Amino acid sequence: MAKTRLAIVGLGKIARDQHLPALAASDAFELVGVASPHNALDGVPSFKDLESLLNAVPGIEAVSLCTTPQVRYEIARLALQRGLHVLLEKPPGATVSEVVALAALANEKKVTLCASWHSRHAAAVEPARAWLAGRQIRSVIVNWKEDVRVWHPGQAWIWKAGGLGVFDPGINALSILTRILPEPLMLQSAELRFPGNCQTPIAANLVFRGTTRVELDFLHPGPPCWDIDVVTDTGRLSLSKGGSEMRLNNEPLSLPHCAEYPGLYAHFADLVRRKSSDVDVAPLQIVADAFLCGERLEVAPFVEL
Ligand code: NAP
Repeated sequence: MAKTRLAIVGLGKIARDQHLPALAASDAFELVGVASPHNALDGVPSFKDLESLLNAVPGIEAVSLCTTPQVRYEIARLALQRGLHVLLEKPPGATVSEVVALAALANEKKVTLCASWHSRHAAAVEPARAWLAGRQIRSVIVNWKEDVRVWHPGQAWIWKAGGLGVFDPGINALSILTRILPEPLMLQSAELRFPGNCQTPIAANLVFRGTTRVELDFLHPGPPCWDIDVVTDTGRLSLSKGGSEMRLNNEPLSLPHCAEYPGLYAHFADLVRRKSSDVDVAPLQIVADAFLCGERLEVAPFVEL
């Protein structure tokens, strides 16, 4: 079967680290163009914006939007209006309303919108969801901590309004939680720490109704900690390394090899084939709720070293 002709918009870190290799190995998509204001890809027609790319390269059927979240809505809207299938990097937008509007537009245009959550394609996520189904949850503790200077060097957009700060990685944890837990999560209170010179938080503690607690930290020294621990009525489930490893009652579980971005593109291909969309705003909704009800504390200004 012919591959779907796809373009990447926003040739930054995640596009180069993950999307290009996943597309090179994909039997469903062929990369035929790039739109990025200051970047081009050797051997692939590259333009500064999507409109110029679509005018110059015929037959583009899909786009992956790997831009910063603040500019995603207008570009996604243009793509959907032109009848293209759209994959949105996470977070799917700068606001929940944007994403809801895009879902309605995709529906109207009868094209696929995939609001992707790459962490949901980690190896342990579906096994964890299956194991937790029907069990009583006693407590959930999430520690999602990394060093922003190592993982996002020089990315000033993270600290601007709409950039999410520590919720940029933290939303990955929320995307896993909202997939694996049998009941919806509802935020009760939050504590957000804002550096004096930033519009977004550098650390956050979230308390949910029931017994779920989430700790996020963007100044965590040393190796990252991306852990979720769930105690149930019949045992304990622990996910580590961002959902790639799983233990049941401290016994490691053997999982099939599973890479996040190839899984994400296989999911997108399946949605296109089925003429369907996948737009779950639950993780973004929790972040919005944290900004709505969170207590704000000012901490030391952030400096890139
Ligand atoms: P990045 O390295 O700063 O790249 C963002 C890119 O967006 C830039 O290269 C920029 O292109 C492009 N861009 C900005 N405005 C644009 C516009 N109007 N039209 C087209 N392109 C535009 O950031 P990143 O780390 O790749 O993150 C991008 C997204 O991926 C974020 O939502 C992030 O949460 C998500 N993500 C990142 C990671 C990660 O590990 N970094 C992991 C998973 C998901 P130019 O440079 O050409 O101006």
